[in-house]
Amino acid sequence: MVQAIFYIPSVSFLLETKEVSKAYRETGGNLEILKNVNFTLSEGKIAVLTGPSGSGKSTFLNIVGALDKPTGGMVFFNGKEMSKFSRKEINGFHREKLGFMFQFHHLLAEFTALENVLMPARIARQNYKESRARALDLLNIVGLSERISHLPRELSGGERQRVALARALMNKPSLIIADEPSGNLDEKNAEVLKSLILDLNKKFGQTFLIATHDMDLAGIATDRWLVAHGTIIVNTNAYERRKSVRTSMGT
Ligand code: ADP
Ligand code: MG
Repeated sequence: MVQAIFYIPSVSFLLETKEVSKAYRETGGNLEILKNVNFTLSEGKIAVLTGPSGSGKSTFLNIVGALDKPTGGMVFFNGKEMSKFSRKEINGFHREKLGFMFQFHHLLAEFTALENVLMPARIARQNYKESRARALDLLNIVGLSERISHLPRELSGGERQRVALARALMNKPSLIIADEPSGNLDEKNAEVLKSLILDLNKKFGQTFLIATHDMDLAGIATDRWLVAHGTIIVNTNAYERRKSVRTSMGT
């Protein structure tokens, strides 16, 4: 991998992977999940990964989110190679740069909506008063000002996912990684979540990386990537194509 050792990442990308691979050692051979994936994401974009179940979408998100390690290749965040991060740097990266959203909300059951949204700020030991004001703002943005004292069990599925989105936004992350965020939602709630993501991107330039089966959600992508057998195939013109489809439909 001489080439890889000397690879100079482009600082213009927020996230870049170079020849990223992931394989599991199995009895009788290697199970290759990701194979030489080259991926780039610029700030202010909404990248969406689609592809059949088992194609490696979650594996990829976990690797770029530093929840898992690749078996080959490199991941760069703001031009810095992640495998060189110390444990402390990874913790800082999770706290300050990333927001996560999953199919299941992973809210803490004993804490209210407000406390859940505040949690990342508490962990990062940020000023309480300022954090609380931000958490209230975020709950307002996701339309839950009337639900701040509710426990997760007192919220609907759609509301829980919106609390999870507000929590992901709490520490002003550079990137939100969302793995099937609408996977458990009905159509109406999925639509609300989609509009919120689009608004956050348009109004605040929030960058997203989303894996989804939901074709409606995938429709908001600025960059669309198809994951097939662990090799990501870029489809860069999703945004332009959508515009031309809209025009041809007369909308
Ligand atoms: P997707 O999110 O696209 O549905 P995943 O990334 O979850 O796909 O999984 C990709 C493949 O990796 C699947 O075939 C899955 O069985 C396999 N896989 C995931 N985790 C492990 C593991 N710890 N050991 C072995 N295989 C795994
Ligand atoms: Mg998955």
